[in-house]
Amino acid sequence: MIIILAGYFYKSVYFAVSVIFGGFSPIRAPDTAGRRKVFKLSRVPDYISGILRTLETAGFRALLVGGCLRDMLLDRPVHDWDIATSARSHDIISQFPKTVRTGERFGTVMVVTSEGTAEVTTFRSDGTYSDGRRPDSVAFVSDLYEDLKRRDFTINAMAMGEDGALVDPYGGREDLERQVIRCVGDPAARFSEDALRMFRALRFSAQLGFEIDADTMAAIEKCAGLCAALSAERVRDETEKILLSERPERAGTALSLELYQGRIKDGALTDGKLRRLAALPREAGLRWCAFCALLFAENLIHSPSDFLREIRLDTKTVRDGADGVKAAQEPLPESWADIKRLLAEQGIQAVRCAAAAEKALRDTNALETVSDVLESGECFSVRQLAITGDDLTECGFKKGILLGNTLKALLAYVIENPQDNRRELLIELAQKIRL
Ligand code: ATP
Ligand code: MG
Repeated sequence: MIIILAGYFYKSVYFAVSVIFGGFSPIRAPDTAGRRKVFKLSRVPDYISGILRTLETAGFRALLVGGCLRDMLLDRPVHDWDIATSARSHDIISQFPKTVRTGERFGTVMVVTSEGTAEVTTFRSDGTYSDGRRPDSVAFVSDLYEDLKRRDFTINAMAMGEDGALVDPYGGREDLERQVIRCVGDPAARFSEDALRMFRALRFSAQLGFEIDADTMAAIEKCAGLCAALSAERVRDETEKILLSERPERAGTALSLELYQGRIKDGALTDGKLRRLAALPREAGLRWCAFCALLFAENLIHSPSDFLREIRLDTKTVRDGADGVKAAQEPLPESWADIKRLLAEQGIQAVRCAAAAEKALRDTNALETVSDVLESGECFSVRQLAITGDDLTECGFKKGILLGNTLKALLAYVIENPQDNRRELLIELAQKIRL
């Protein structure tokens, strides 16, 4: 009884302290010398601890693994929670009220709670790879170490249970401290299994600002040709993460390492120009367009629209991106009236893309000017005029070309005189135009 009460008291104090100091909950884990060390970790959400506890209580092992653990140790925001467990899919499903089978072949079940979701995956080892993309078979295993061995980089091959003990057989924590991306096992063999890992190495290097270990880098140089077999979608996803990171110039490194086999001509982009992308908003469409503009300027792609389409971007991103690159071949106008005319002709996103491309090509602040124009709320389309076609028909205009042309003339006037976008004034003007 006394022990239960003492335990309860300890938990309450611990809870109060973590609430007061908010944001962090220290989790103890052994350091490499085997001593216990207190990490400053971002708080594990209650529902995640709950999932770990539920599985453990049912007699299974369950640990946080992969990116969430890496990002917690780095004190970076965690965007998705991966749990590795000795439980098989049917056991996972039976332990939780709501689950979705997301990748049963690979042993993954998504556990859904009112606070959020987690991907829960049975410990597994991967069979042989004959297509350089995904294992021919997977075997569910009871050993966590087997599961960690199949993972790509040491920093992604750690696990931590609810008790806070870190399982780190490949020196991931030390590599986090040294800021190094290093393959688990023989790099060339790991890249032959799945060529995407080469892109992932550059992507993590871009996102985390880490260097790539010399042996891992040498293997990328050796194995680059294997990237030809990758699907466009997988290359797109990794490239997009690089472009959206703080080091978009890593896309240039991927290019120099010849990872874009057949998708972009062999060549180089200057780091300085690619670095300009980091100053753009974190919007995929803008960064793709800026990247594409640089590739086009260096003659590394024939056609922006073909390139964007072949890398499987959606129709709108392709259209706005290609229009943006085209428009940015000439410097964008500087006057507000000209920018509004361009917005009217090309649409908002194409003009924003053009301004992003211009940032990459000529390092101008056109995007800021376009944003200022948009935020001002000044009218640049017939829809934003203070009168409608119906207002004009009420004044005696007949529906048809004349009415349409009158609205266009009013828009041209309002673009030059934004302060005059007022109903009475525009009706008066329309009647004068008719006379
Ligand atoms: P993020 O989610 O931030 O993009 P992540 O490391 O969580 O990064 P995911 O793609 O979510 O990446 O994968 C989760 C984990 O699965 C990784 O941390 C890694 O352990 C493993 N993993 C993912 N892709 C591969 C791969 N191609 N080869 C080997 N292991 C992989
Ligand atoms: Mg992840």
